[in-house]
Amino acid sequence: MMEMKKPTLITSWYEIRAEAVQARKQNLKVGLVPTMGALHEGHLSLVRTARDYCDVTIATIFVNPTQFGPHEDLNKYPRTLDDDLARLGALEVDFAYAPSKEELYPEGFSTFVEPPSVAKRFEGECRPGHFRGVTTIVLKLLNIIPAHIAFFGQKDYQQCRVIQSMAQDLNVPTLIQLCPTVRDPDGLALSSRNQYLSTAERTQALSISKSLDDAEGEVSRGQTDMRRIVDRMRNTLEAAGIEKIDYVDIADAQTLEPVAQLQNDAVALIAAHVGITRLIDNRILSHR
Ligand code: AMP
Repeated sequence: MMEMKKPTLITSWYEIRAEAVQARKQNLKVGLVPTMGALHEGHLSLVRTARDYCDVTIATIFVNPTQFGPHEDLNKYPRTLDDDLARLGALEVDFAYAPSKEELYPEGFSTFVEPPSVAKRFEGECRPGHFRGVTTIVLKLLNIIPAHIAFFGQKDYQQCRVIQSMAQDLNVPTLIQLCPTVRDPDGLALSSRNQYLSTAERTQALSISKSLDDAEGEVSRGQTDMRRIVDRMRNTLEAAGIEKIDYVDIADAQTLEPVAQLQNDAVALIAAHVGITRLIDNRILSHR
């Protein structure tokens, strides 16, 4: 690989804060891209968008322990800091903030953000405590780094709505920008967890994006009965051999409450286990 300038790596919260404050004083627009590392093209698309909109781009790399449940994959979550820095360097990211766990959750840490109502269903039901960890870490990052815009991927649609809602309710002045999901050419949404899929599992996993394609197709042909579409989506997943479906549903795109008839924009949401890998994906169904 060609030698690239790596971003300045910072691990202390007051140092990265000082850099962001300094940039703002110089009237530079600051963009923030929070990640858990193991960067792939999905993350990098957020970084590119941040580079397009902002003068100074800060990517954060932190595997946030408070958003993992006791039986989830915190310990085996991939950690690839050197590769991540090289990838960020290739995109000329200015700063990478990669704090230790102790830096953000020191001894005695005990304050958490109660997530908004859009966190109640779906991931909120399947992963108790997950969004409480997400809102807490994202608010901490937004307090540390006073960015003009923070970039999040539609891949985690409910997470985006949770963060937007939190930012609105708690008067966070940063704009929360949603960016499109990046997929492999076969349609599978990029995820750090895809690397665990065998070839056969990958084929099964493709039924997730396929069922979302079908849902979108039905809506564009005028179907307004969302329950029929949900049944079809479930059938597609089951026909592919996916046995453990956490949820497959269509909800209002704003409130994330399930909808029977398409009246406003909606979102089709899926979480399913393929082998031991849990995958999520979604598609906005626009109401025209
Ligand atoms: P993570 O490292 O999984 O916490 O993801 C960090 C950010 O990257 C989140 O805003 C994700 O929604 C976003 N992201 C992850 N995968 C994708 C993807 N395939 N396309 C677009 N954004 C993504």
